[in-house]
Amino acid sequence: MNSFTTKYIFVTGGVTSSLGKGIISASLAKLLQARGFSVTIQKFDPYINIDPGTLNPYEHGECYVTDDGAETDLDLGHYERFLNIPTSQANNVTTGRIYQSVINKERKGDYLGRTVQVIPHITDEIKNRFQLLGKSGRYNFIITEIGGTVGDIESLPYVEAVRQMMWEHDKDCLVIHLTLLPYLHTTGELKTKPTQHSVKLLLENGVQPDILVCRSIQSIDDDIRQKIARFCNVAPDAVIEALDARSIYDVPLLMAKEKLDLVVLQKLGLPTDSKLDLEKWEEFLDKLHHPKQKVRVALVGKYIELKDSYKSIAEAFVHAGAANDVQVEVEWIHSEDVNDETVQQLFEGIHGIVVAPGFGKRGIEGKIIAIRHARENNIPFLGICLGMQCAVIEFARNVLGFKDAHTTEVNPATTHPVIDLQEVQKKVTHLGGTMRLGSYPCQLKERTMAYSIYGKKEVSERHRHRYEFNNEYLKDFEKAGLHASGIHPEAGLVEIIELKNHPWFIGVQFHPEYKSTVANPHPFFIGFVKAALQYQPSPGVRKTEKV
Ligand code: GLN
Repeated sequence: MNSFTTKYIFVTGGVTSSLGKGIISASLAKLLQARGFSVTIQKFDPYINIDPGTLNPYEHGECYVTDDGAETDLDLGHYERFLNIPTSQANNVTTGRIYQSVINKERKGDYLGRTVQVIPHITDEIKNRFQLLGKSGRYNFIITEIGGTVGDIESLPYVEAVRQMMWEHDKDCLVIHLTLLPYLHTTGELKTKPTQHSVKLLLENGVQPDILVCRSIQSIDDDIRQKIARFCNVAPDAVIEALDARSIYDVPLLMAKEKLDLVVLQKLGLPTDSKLDLEKWEEFLDKLHHPKQKVRVALVGKYIELKDSYKSIAEAFVHAGAANDVQVEVEWIHSEDVNDETVQQLFEGIHGIVVAPGFGKRGIEGKIIAIRHARENNIPFLGICLGMQCAVIEFARNVLGFKDAHTTEVNPATTHPVIDLQEVQKKVTHLGGTMRLGSYPCQLKERTMAYSIYGKKEVSERHRHRYEFNNEYLKDFEKAGLHASGIHPEAGLVEIIELKNHPWFIGVQFHPEYKSTVANPHPFFIGFVKAALQYQPSPGVRKTEKV
């Protein structure tokens, strides 16, 4: 690690939401990492939930889980996928968490005699959290993404805390403002006014951005750069163009072309002569953009209207596709659409079926029918969390003949609770943060498919669930060909199941997608894509297409 005091880079957003602050933050971090610096990224979310764990995926997309069991914003997934370093609870803070800790201190008497206020108490707490990871001494740069859009009431305490940080640690702080330049088709112009206004909003709160990253569908010419620079008090070379990219993984290269990393280093008074080594990243992009074949994989879930609900699975397929030199085309299939009449047609031309994680009753029967289709037709299958539980239910009903077999999550009165709560979970009354969360070891049985895919005896994978395979039934399942190939070493919980006499049929109680990164695609996704490539569908369906 380079020896200088930790630098804090804040990324704010203006004009609209969804401009991609997470990807810009991750891309800048990637560039700094590729120059040999140690970097981490953290996200501060303005909502009052303690974490996104209790949020419906429709509200906020996927809930991403870290090794230490934090339920976090999906942007942390991008940070890990780009940087290939794990994040933790400290990397995601919400307003709810800030207030909770201030209120706890107030109850303990820490502020005795004083009125507890947004300034200084809430802003002090925010500043402490901004610097928590920095204090570990492990990082040259801490990039902090501030959720929401400048001007939102909820964001105000964060912007105020940034202002105070700039005042107190001027030389070690930098603000990047991400904004939008709308393009007017009628006049054929990019407009700068919304950007000017959003910088004014920041200035009203005492924050002068150092760099403006401008999302735009057209290249920004010199005149526009000069105009933005003049109106917003930034140097013209600090006006960075961010065009729509071919994929999120192309953004670091676009930012390198615009010299975002160099402008950051200059502004922080750091040397700019380090070598930018993106060789591996470019190799990955080359594979991503030049696939030799295409496979079609179905993802069966109930939140498919919002693709962000399955972000990490979709990205894991991007990584595994590149690793196999193929393009994985993901067909999103709504589990409520799958029934005995539709199944054949819905999965026609599909080379592999993934059944997604989920909670509750809705869509579960469709998932079970999709799994039966995969099992009976030798279609490669990967069941993730609820997807694995559904595979167990399907097998119990259709092979073992336990007609009402179910998970007690959906049918507590079933006579065959093949998926059930663990004793510890039965006592839980609160919903937030009470599942089996985070990394747990998993021991693999030799001579199983799981063992040969991982190539080792013990792995560690991330969990997010309450229900488990019911070991009372294990013997029945194994006798009929569904085997437990991965087990939690102490608790004996079944973590992986696989089917004998099927080319590729695996269910995992954990979430392999959380650990798939550009540098380390997950072996299960690589193996699944390979199996999908080899799958021979019924006559008349073309297996792969050249692209
Ligand atoms: N609802 C199931 C459970 O809690 C599965 C959860 C999931 O798929 N993440 O066990």
